[in-house]
Amino acid sequence: MLDVLRRIVQEVNGARNLNAALSTMVRRIRKAMRTDVCSFYLFDVEQQRLVLMETIGLHAQAVGQVSLRLGEGLVGLVAQREEPLNLEDAHGHPQFRYFAETGEERFSSFLGVPIIHQRRMLGVLVVQQQDKRRFDEGDEAFLVTMAAQLAGVLAHALATGTLNRPSRDVGQAVFTGVATSPGMVIGEALVIAPPADLDNVPDLVPTDIDYEIKRLKDAIYRVRDEIRAAGERLASRISAQELALFEVYQQMLGEAALAQEVEKRIREGQWAPGALADVVRRHVQYMERVDDDYLRERAADVRDLGRRVLAHLQEESPQTPDTFPERTILVGDEISVATLGEVPRGKLAGLVSIRGSSTSHVAILARAMGIPTVLGMVDLPLPRLNGAPVILDGHRGRLFVRPDEELKNHYRSLIAEETALAEVLEHEQDLPSRTPDGHDMPLMVNTGLAVDAVASLKTRISGVGLYRTEVPFMITERFPGEQEQMRLYRDQLESFAPLPVVMRTLDIGGDKDLPYFPIEEANPFLGWRGIRVTLDHPEVLMVQLRAMLRASQGMGNLQILLPMVTNVDEVDDTLKLIDRAQAELAEEGVEVERPKIGVMLEVPATLYQLESLAERVDFFSVGSNDLTQYLLAVDRNNPRVAELYDACHPAVLAALARLAQEAVALDMPTSVCGELAGDPAGALLLMGMGFDALSMNTPSLPRVRAAIRRVPLAAAEALVHETLKLATPGEVRAHLVKRMGEWQLDHLLPPKD
Ligand code: PEP
Ligand code: MG
Repeated sequence: MLDVLRRIVQEVNGARNLNAALSTMVRRIRKAMRTDVCSFYLFDVEQQRLVLMETIGLHAQAVGQVSLRLGEGLVGLVAQREEPLNLEDAHGHPQFRYFAETGEERFSSFLGVPIIHQRRMLGVLVVQQQDKRRFDEGDEAFLVTMAAQLAGVLAHALATGTLNRPSRDVGQAVFTGVATSPGMVIGEALVIAPPADLDNVPDLVPTDIDYEIKRLKDAIYRVRDEIRAAGERLASRISAQELALFEVYQQMLGEAALAQEVEKRIREGQWAPGALADVVRRHVQYMERVDDDYLRERAADVRDLGRRVLAHLQEESPQTPDTFPERTILVGDEISVATLGEVPRGKLAGLVSIRGSSTSHVAILARAMGIPTVLGMVDLPLPRLNGAPVILDGHRGRLFVRPDEELKNHYRSLIAEETALAEVLEHEQDLPSRTPDGHDMPLMVNTGLAVDAVASLKTRISGVGLYRTEVPFMITERFPGEQEQMRLYRDQLESFAPLPVVMRTLDIGGDKDLPYFPIEEANPFLGWRGIRVTLDHPEVLMVQLRAMLRASQGMGNLQILLPMVTNVDEVDDTLKLIDRAQAELAEEGVEVERPKIGVMLEVPATLYQLESLAERVDFFSVGSNDLTQYLLAVDRNNPRVAELYDACHPAVLAALARLAQEAVALDMPTSVCGELAGDPAGALLLMGMGFDALSMNTPSLPRVRAAIRRVPLAAAEALVHETLKLATPGEVRAHLVKRMGEWQLDHLLPPKD
């Protein structure tokens, strides 16, 4: 049975188009369970109805026509209860409802199971049989397992738009994801499609039909050439039968077949990549529906050919266009740091993606740049969004597609309010970050992009608490050389001198890959990350250390921070390399001071080695993002567990409070540079715990400063005391909101509905 299950899931997974996959699925299940009917009902969230999407055994014309409310009929009951329902005599059940279109009165036995993904009911899978048959425990277990396996495939297909929902395309729609970077914006969606993915080609109306047809023909011509060449290369090594396949490919690409159809679609008003994707999808869908192994295999060939042609078309038309809408909202399956860099700064107004969550590095950059962002929007129908007018709400994690005038006006007034608040806060930005009872709380900034080095900042901060050196590394095409790095670092040091600049050594691994140094691992966040990588590559680390030291010549404001430290040995080894770099530079006649060295406290193991670490370095910096992820065992980048990731979890707060106390006892200057420091309520807690400095993204400064200037240290200490008694993250958040309200600081918190 396991084998059958695996094969069905594989087939469904392998099908590029979900409509075809569903058809495969119902056929295979019917066969495996030796029953008369297998049907799939999709839950359409907008209509709140279960719609018959695919069936084998019921009348085909009922597909898309029959729909039920939650709780209506047997299928509705399964969906409502979110439990399997197994009946020998379905007609006898009080909930039985008859739909003439389906011809279903002929069937007596019924077994239905819900398909649930991440606690969300996506639909119902049903098998039925004409004669009275009690589906046994094995049948039920099979269908439940099948549904559980299919849930992920289905959720992804719904998210990427490969499954055409009954009511999705037109009119206003709203999608929700993880609120990642605050702010609201009204703009236009620009969909970034991954290369050569037929399922993610956006729809676009061509401006020049002849040009689209010409480039289609060119692309087909090149693929024919490639296939001919491949055939010739392989001629001596493969059988005549296999070689004949190349001939079939050539025919498929011939003028009369695919090309003509695509051309027709272009003339109907679709650009070449979109037309190609439409035609290929239609063919593949048809071929996959037919119960014929030969045709099924040919479907894979057609898909492959389509992908090849698309790759050529995309070579020619860059994925990101030359002209961007004035207020571009970038939308994609996944948005890379590099893509972020492609949109002109002035036009990038928002970011939305299916993958990613609020502590991923794209998220951190977006916050640093002050760009409203919502990630983990798993429901997004990508291919239908390009060019659509949208409203992005980064506070509430929402994207409104094709909003009506009323909604737009509502958002215009919310945006105006927010701008007014920003102006009010701006007035106090040059005032000290000091509590009403006279406690100074130094505020620092996290940087990484050149854009962060703004001169006006200098008077408002105590320095750069974290310069993420991997960011410039991510934008280059190879490891930058010593001189190149030196110039970058010098720029930072000079921009902020005489304030300290804490430069972190290269922190790659986890979700931060360099395009030219990919790291493939099963558990990247528990793997080769940060100092583990650089100690294994001293040639990379030495270049960086030398560049930092060289840049610091005559400046005196460099501090070096070591990421992802787990063992004291790692610190010793790095210190030796720093000494060596300093000595090498001295040999070259470059005399530099030894900078202060710090360790990031982000792996829980370090919390138990504070004393040994303190003996070796000059300061600590708490990476609350990673500390949270490792203490809670929640991947910071996984939307599936995003709700469990919370820096205000009682365990994290308890660890931080204790750490702050121990740091005081050890007389070690300790700051916090994770996202918690940039949250006004989080900042108050950290101040109350006794941390020496808070480092955050520049856009977070105004709100944090406003909070600190209004809450006495004694009150922040009391807040810590109260909070540490609470048992759940929800209670902690609620308590923080309550206190912030009492202090009349609720306007500093992210707006909620
Ligand atoms: C952290 O982990 O809190 C941190 C500041 O580092 P990063 O987010 O770059 O991993
Ligand atoms: Mg970290």
